[in-house]
Amino acid sequence: MPMTAKPAYQRILLKLSGEALMGSGEFGISPEVMSGLAHEIKAVIDSGVQVALVVGGGNIFRGEGLARAGMDRVTGDHMGMLATVINALALQDAIERVGLPVRVQSALRINQVCEDYIRRRAVRHLEKGRVVIFSAGTGNPFFTTDSAAALRAVEINADLLLKATKVDGIYTADPKKHPDAVKYQELTYDEALSKRLGVMDQTAMVLCRDHGIKLCVYDMDRAGALQAIINGDDTIGTRVYA
Ligand code: UDP
Repeated sequence: MPMTAKPAYQRILLKLSGEALMGSGEFGISPEVMSGLAHEIKAVIDSGVQVALVVGGGNIFRGEGLARAGMDRVTGDHMGMLATVINALALQDAIERVGLPVRVQSALRINQVCEDYIRRRAVRHLEKGRVVIFSAGTGNPFFTTDSAAALRAVEINADLLLKATKVDGIYTADPKKHPDAVKYQELTYDEALSKRLGVMDQTAMVLCRDHGIKLCVYDMDRAGALQAIINGDDTIGTRVYA
């Protein structure tokens, strides 16, 4: 699809896991990955689409893992949520460096570092062409940033929720473990839920299903994929519908 095509969506929410920011590393944040993402986001913004991001924290801390090691779960989840803020600040910096206006909002109040999450303010930023990065998940322990992405997508009325992964869509089984796994071009949330496909956690999928959010799972390492999807190319990744 040519780059000049009219975008198929006006407002998107892109979910980036913490692991997506690591690149080939085992921990932390890859400056190359950040810069690559920032350039891709710039191209999307330049085509007139409003872009919100939800960032995970699994490259730094996950409450579940910390609890398994003996820590109080709620404390671990607070650490996980703060980890997402660290990622969001790094992403904000990378996006600013490609010349885009960008704001980080946090679901936990740390307003000397970034804005508090205020829905109406977030929507205003988007309308003005600013990238908005939602951090600290939902602000509550026992949730994930997938659920935060679903929640924010509903709240800001996103036309499309994108989940950037290391796989080019949703498969009948994990393609890394099962080479005969088959990729879905599209499926419904009910199918994904009943087959327990590891797309997003169940809370996130139920929220998307009940509020009619369209989801696209795609391979973030495929060059040009994001722009092509936004231009309406439905052959890339997997679409999940209500
Ligand atoms: N978290 C939380 N509530 C939320 C979102 C996240 O407590 O609403 C915590 C939780 O401990 C989680 C961690 O933050 O493990 C990092 O988020 P997530 O695991 O979703 O990150 P990702 O897998 O996307 O990198």
